[in-house]
Amino acid sequence: MSYVRKEIDAEEIRRQQALCAQIFDRVTADGRRPLAMVDTYGCQQNEADSEKLRGYLAEMGYSFTEDEFQADVIVVNTCAVREHAEMRVLGNVGALNHTKKNKPDQIVAVCGCMVQQEHMAEKIKRSYPVVDLVFGPHELWRFPELLLRVMTGGKRVFATQKDAGAVAEGIPQRRDGSVKAWLSIMYGCNNFCTYCVVPYVRGRERSRRPEDVVAEARELVAAGYKDITLLGQNVNSYGKDLDCGVDFADLLRMVNDIPGDFLIRFMTSHPKDATEKLFRTMAACEKCAHHIHLPVQSGSDRVLKAMNRSYDREKYLEEVRVARAYMPDLVLTTDIIVGFPGETDEDFADTLRLCEQVRFDAMFTFIYSKRVGTPAASMPDPYTRADKQRHFDMLTETANRISGEKHREYEGRTLRVLVDGETGKVPYNLSSRTNGGRLVHLKGDPALIGRFADVKITASNTWALYGELAEA
Ligand code: SAH
Ligand code: SF4
Repeated sequence: MSYVRKEIDAEEIRRQQALCAQIFDRVTADGRRPLAMVDTYGCQQNEADSEKLRGYLAEMGYSFTEDEFQADVIVVNTCAVREHAEMRVLGNVGALNHTKKNKPDQIVAVCGCMVQQEHMAEKIKRSYPVVDLVFGPHELWRFPELLLRVMTGGKRVFATQKDAGAVAEGIPQRRDGSVKAWLSIMYGCNNFCTYCVVPYVRGRERSRRPEDVVAEARELVAAGYKDITLLGQNVNSYGKDLDCGVDFADLLRMVNDIPGDFLIRFMTSHPKDATEKLFRTMAACEKCAHHIHLPVQSGSDRVLKAMNRSYDREKYLEEVRVARAYMPDLVLTTDIIVGFPGETDEDFADTLRLCEQVRFDAMFTFIYSKRVGTPAASMPDPYTRADKQRHFDMLTETANRISGEKHREYEGRTLRVLVDGETGKVPYNLSSRTNGGRLVHLKGDPALIGRFADVKITASNTWALYGELAEA
């Protein structure tokens, strides 16, 4: 695989910003403040991308709304990982016919991973005339240019060329919260797990330069963010395309060295190259949360091989042992796919056994979804949907029981949490997270939001802990 790293010139982003200014003049000419809505599906990377779309839209003069009937521009940022997300997108985009009928000048854009697939872009072209603009993840940096073309050209615009992807610095961002922030450190994926569409739609792995990542982390800390999540499809291969001698563990240290009281999180780590150095670094960096999301996908060596995951059950278990030796308080979460083509009862029993052995704090479980163009899509898949559902229900039950048991172990303990928002409920009106990322509902003054606090855990269930502020 030969991929030559491509960087979008800073000059080019400035040109896009100049186009934002042109759009600003157009859309605010009547003295009105136009409204935009950005609807995001899928992973944290998509959330981060939507913050860039909002950054550009804000420079164009748009304010934001959640009401699709009010919006002058609607951008739907889509996911392609499973069919369910695609169906939701198509249903919701179809429903925009009603809003556009009321507001004929409304512009509807659909972007992200789903439309980077040729068959989906075609489907939208043919069956969803309500959509004016379609662009894939590789074109996000030139969203202003594409939107202006729709505004001035009177024609639908489709920009979904196949591409290995580039790195663009300097795109404005409008972040969602004020306590937690996403920070992309790399884009794309080279792993080609046989079930997964991500490498086809997000392109090859490319890392941002360490100095750019650190500069952005510094800005976040200066702006008061207290919880920074470094994002990549596989953060463990960070830096491999840069040849600058900085790997992911080194990057963690560099971010950890930024002065201030904040937490560093990251996702996702691929077990094939999570190293002892990574766990040692996590343990040594006082700002690094003791949480790792390490998707195992299956506990069966046969299935792992068919998935092209490049590790086996034993290697995974050994990693967990090493990680826990460095961090006895480590919170470990995972993703599991049930019903991969040809997965037998025995394979599934291996997965259940692995879960009992590891005792994950939380598990994200998915029923296998066939993705066009992936190798798994043409593997024999004799098991029925009902078989898969039965396994899925058993796995969820196990996951919930273990999470509940693990949560119960917190009761009576006093922990430092970061208060991150209001729940809108009584009496537990605040939400917070432990260092390991477990959710804690609290009673307290909203002035605590954005602060660390010591909390005594008084109750728990499968999904959350409940606590009270500890006496100072
Ligand atoms: N890069 C990340 C995962 C991105 S997708 C990683 O490798 O960990 C998030 C999760 O969705 C995956 O971990 C996997 O469990 C699930 N997933 C991906 N493709 C899927 C498919 N075709 N069907 C069902 N689940 C899938
Ligand atoms: Fe998909 Fe595998 Fe890449 Fe994760 S590592 S994005 S599951 S191909």
